[in-house]
Amino acid sequence: MKALSQRAQEMGLPMTIEMAKKARELSATGKQVISLSLGEPDFDTPDFIKESANEAMAQNYTHYMPVPGFADLRESIAAKFKRDNNLEYSADQIVVSTGAKQSLLNVFLTLVNPGDEVIIPAPYWVSYMDQAKYCGGEVKVLPTSKESGFKISAAQLESAITEKSKVLIFSSPNNPCGAIYSGEELAAIAKVVAKHPNLHIISDEIYELLNYGEIDHVSIASFPEVYNQTITVNGLSKGFAMTGWRIGYIGAPEWIAKACTKFQSNFTSGTNSVAQRACKAAVEADPASVKYMVDTFAARREKMVGWINEIPGFELDTPPGAFYVFPRVADLLGKKFNGQVLNTSLDLSMYLLEEGLVSTVPGDAFGLPGYIRFSYAAAEADLQEAVRRVKAAVAQLED
Ligand code: PLP
Repeated sequence: MKALSQRAQEMGLPMTIEMAKKARELSATGKQVISLSLGEPDFDTPDFIKESANEAMAQNYTHYMPVPGFADLRESIAAKFKRDNNLEYSADQIVVSTGAKQSLLNVFLTLVNPGDEVIIPAPYWVSYMDQAKYCGGEVKVLPTSKESGFKISAAQLESAITEKSKVLIFSSPNNPCGAIYSGEELAAIAKVVAKHPNLHIISDEIYELLNYGEIDHVSIASFPEVYNQTITVNGLSKGFAMTGWRIGYIGAPEWIAKACTKFQSNFTSGTNSVAQRACKAAVEADPASVKYMVDTFAARREKMVGWINEIPGFELDTPPGAFYVFPRVADLLGKKFNGQVLNTSLDLSMYLLEEGLVSTVPGDAFGLPGYIRFSYAAAEADLQEAVRRVKAAVAQLED
């Protein structure tokens, strides 16, 4: 008898992964799909990081290691937080995990009891929802829009908080829309959170380095009134093109770091030892060492925004960070192809995949229907061809 646990039945598969799977299925039939649905830099890991991994293997960093990460790595991460984010964390406040994904799950497991409220501004990264629910959290989604720059206001947050509110989680720069909260906006949010000592902030800063200069990156934990309520999450996947190495980390109050370590010791043990040594080289490096990637993304961003805005029914402002554009497509909903109505952005995204052979992710996956995410972590020629196909597919739609 197949008796799946309740947990297994309720756990969703991220729509981003589903879309990538569908794109692969179409490709397997010989169709030339352009995949813009995954959140992965199209660069290889820089050589200086790979060399440190080679050295680590030669030096036999091949054994079990401390569960929260090598002590010297945690010192280096603490120095990075100080250097880049004006944050004072000791090594005991840092836990290195198998990707920021595990860092986030550790924190949810540490903080959320069944019935606790988890506040998530939309659009949000897909796994926040499933991780929060897995821990029994009652999710309260705060919608935003293109008009608000996809950001919540302090007043919006304040009116959502109840005595059951335990966690506020957001990413800045944001996946899927590239929004970045300014220092002033974060200060206003911090002021509200500080009034509610039971509420914690999970600040996901994994796209920190993918910032195109319009809005400075600020860590909300740098506001002293919320330092003890905040968990700062970061990692190497995006900024250092290290998705496969699986390294994420947190800076947090020590009691939270300790509990995360306890979960990790039972679930996965310390993160891969060679990847940890490579991580040390990355966090110690001057962020300017990856500027060539950021410059490339910046150039593509300009082009993508121009091209996308030429598609009738697509509306897009220039996103200040990450490597996604998230145009509004609501005006196209209700249109038909071969008599079939495209009611949702999911329908539109599927249509673009099947008819245009371009894979995207619908806003529905990120809690904000009416929008579609395109990653521009792809070669410029592919981006241009993808937009041409999307435009042609949209031109076939009828009222
Ligand atoms: N947070 C956000 C906002 C992301 O987009 C991602 C990856 O897509 C992650 C966390 C997880 O990153 P990692 O590869 O370190 O697990």
